[in-house]
Amino acid sequence: MMKFLNKLKGFWGNAVAVDLGTATTLIYIKHRGIVLREPSVVAVDQYTGEVVACGEEAKKMLGKTPEGLIAQRPMKDGVIADFDLVQEMLYNFLSRVLSNNLFFRPKVLIAVPSGITEVEKRAVRDSAENAGATGVLLVSEPIAAAVGIGLPINEPTGNMIIDIGGGTTEIAVISLSGLVTNISLRVAGDEMDEAIASYIREKYRVAIGEQTAEQIKIYLGNAFPSKVEESMEVRGRDLVTGAPKTIEITSTEVREALKSPINQIIEAIKKALEKTPPELVADIIDRGIYLTGGGSLLKSLDELIMEETNIPVKKVDNPLECVVLGAGKIIDNIEDYENVLMKQKKSSIKRRVEL
Ligand code: ADP
Ligand code: MG
Repeated sequence: MMKFLNKLKGFWGNAVAVDLGTATTLIYIKHRGIVLREPSVVAVDQYTGEVVACGEEAKKMLGKTPEGLIAQRPMKDGVIADFDLVQEMLYNFLSRVLSNNLFFRPKVLIAVPSGITEVEKRAVRDSAENAGATGVLLVSEPIAAAVGIGLPINEPTGNMIIDIGGGTTEIAVISLSGLVTNISLRVAGDEMDEAIASYIREKYRVAIGEQTAEQIKIYLGNAFPSKVEESMEVRGRDLVTGAPKTIEITSTEVREALKSPINQIIEAIKKALEKTPPELVADIIDRGIYLTGGGSLLKSLDELIMEETNIPVKKVDNPLECVVLGAGKIIDNIEDYENVLMKQKKSSIKRRVEL
């Protein structure tokens, strides 16, 4: 047994943990902490197919690229939307943090949505391997988040985590290191942005960009009526005249716009609670529901969830980081966490032939 543990330790000598988020990618180096935090965006030259920029630099180009250049989010719709781009992006990020140490091919632990299919698992693993990693392991995002928050996931107690990211909302109940209930909903922050853009398009006949919609959500977005109503000026393009137009938007309007995506999230939470064994629901009522992910920062979302479920809701201190911090804790103490890793099907078929 000892020998096996030592072997595992050695194997994880040079390791990084990655939160491959649909909005943001974070990287943690073993025993060092978070070393990279970049938007999951890639800018590509359409003619040569070459990647021109990754991360912050590429994000600035979203919706503003000159002809021939496209800025894309390779993880946009749920999991991997574009395999090649994810690979290039991972390679770019890994080489930044490992500088010329890519020579010592790192072991990589990647946090992925719990609803990921076998095909998508392979795509993530191949991306990391092609980006220079060796020995890729996966952990589901809610488990990593729970470890990051410091919940007692090894105990026979129900812990409920809701992680609202850009592309997916993960609703999970964890007990004895495993996922007892697990819903991966492809409605999260991005859908909220789209809902705001389409509300403004329909009501005012004005088109706004993705980033403007996100700013409105962050500044005015809310899930539960509050006493003070706020408003802001928004610039867009008049769909009738084609000219630029400035309109005033209120927090009440944004709440109205967000109704559909938020209701879908609430319905999924209720469904998850219905599917969870009553003993564990009793634990959750005692301990509360933990909210993480950037989407959980939406104003008064915690209040709405509390009202709809009758269960206390707890926000965590660092909702944008707990997945990568949890994955980091796992690689720092791999011998304690072997049982939380995702099982992977071994495939004996060589799928890719290098030509
Ligand atoms: P992912 O794990 O998918 O990369 P994150 O956990 O980083 O996603 O969350 C990104 C989402 O959080 C985006 O949709 C972003 O607009 C949203 N977000 C960030 N800050 C806020 C805020 N203050 N209010 C509402 N949404 C927010
Ligand atoms: Mg995330």
